[in-house]
Amino acid sequence: MFSENILAWFADHGRKDLPWQQQPTPYRVWVSEIMLQQTQVKTVIPFYQRFMSRFPDVQQLADAPLDDVLHHWSGLGYYARARNLHKAARLVRDTYKGIFPEQFEQVEALPGIGRSTAGAILSLACGQRHAILDGNVKRVLARYHAVHGWTGNSTVLRELWLLAEAATPQQNVAAYNQAMMDLGATVCRRGTPDCESCPLTSGCLARRQGIQRDLPSPRPRKVLPVREVHMLLLQDTQQAVWLQQRPASGIWGGLWSFPEFAGAAELQGWLDERSLPGEIQQHDVVRHTFSHFHLDITPCLVRLQNPVFSVMDGHEGVWYNTRQPGALGLPAPVQRLLQRLQASD
Ligand code: SF4
Repeated sequence: MFSENILAWFADHGRKDLPWQQQPTPYRVWVSEIMLQQTQVKTVIPFYQRFMSRFPDVQQLADAPLDDVLHHWSGLGYYARARNLHKAARLVRDTYKGIFPEQFEQVEALPGIGRSTAGAILSLACGQRHAILDGNVKRVLARYHAVHGWTGNSTVLRELWLLAEAATPQQNVAAYNQAMMDLGATVCRRGTPDCESCPLTSGCLARRQGIQRDLPSPRPRKVLPVREVHMLLLQDTQQAVWLQQRPASGIWGGLWSFPEFAGAAELQGWLDERSLPGEIQQHDVVRHTFSHFHLDITPCLVRLQNPVFSVMDGHEGVWYNTRQPGALGLPAPVQRLLQRLQASD
């Protein structure tokens, strides 16, 4: 009954014109699922279309340099997703002759793909019967069955997987899974569930008990630690800024960013070592919040008065022309700081 209600609702209200629903190959669905993991549909669509026109198949994604992939991911955040996508594409090219696998265990073993994403790819693209449990589906099931407890807790998660498996029909799995994701995104919304329009309203325990807004239970609160860094916005006489590539692992791995220092003294030392004169203009702190800490960035602008000939060519970094941006992956706060800098020029 549950799945029949869902499928009937989908026929009338489900989303059927999303770009990845057209010619839904495993590759196209895979890229969309990865982009949608932490980002909303309307934000993802233009990124997806640009990504697909540059990397139309897994072979072209595998053959592309990582920098190019990160560049097309710039602004979506959570860059580990792009690095894993690239790594997995290379594995598909080298292990499966460039053909995306269609066995669940092989798909689930690829970097960045968990149980739910593997299920989504194989059900939406190949019609295989697999349950999914992304954030939207967790919310619908936790409310419908009044499951209490944070969904990141392993016991709660196990219970939700059992409920997801039991609810998944034998037929029409692609439509059912898409419908569950749509229902969570558009009706059983996080803050304001629209129970009046919901096909599950008569059987929903949370609604009956009036606790829809309390479920799923929030993550137990913890105070995020704060890390402080100084970033050097070094600008040459042509208004280009100096960027360095970050190490492959860690935050913003492989992206390009301003030189970063623990404090003002270290920043000054770096300038002195390279005989770079210039007044340091310290700007207001910019906060960027990651899932596990806040990063407080103190931007320090230094405008060089003379052309720079000898410093820092080659491997240390690049002079980045903000008027003719190159194909570099930039973290969101770096993009914001560059925009501010351009506005003040
Ligand atoms: S009735 Fe309300 S709370 Fe229950 S599943 Fe539907 S929208 Fe969510």
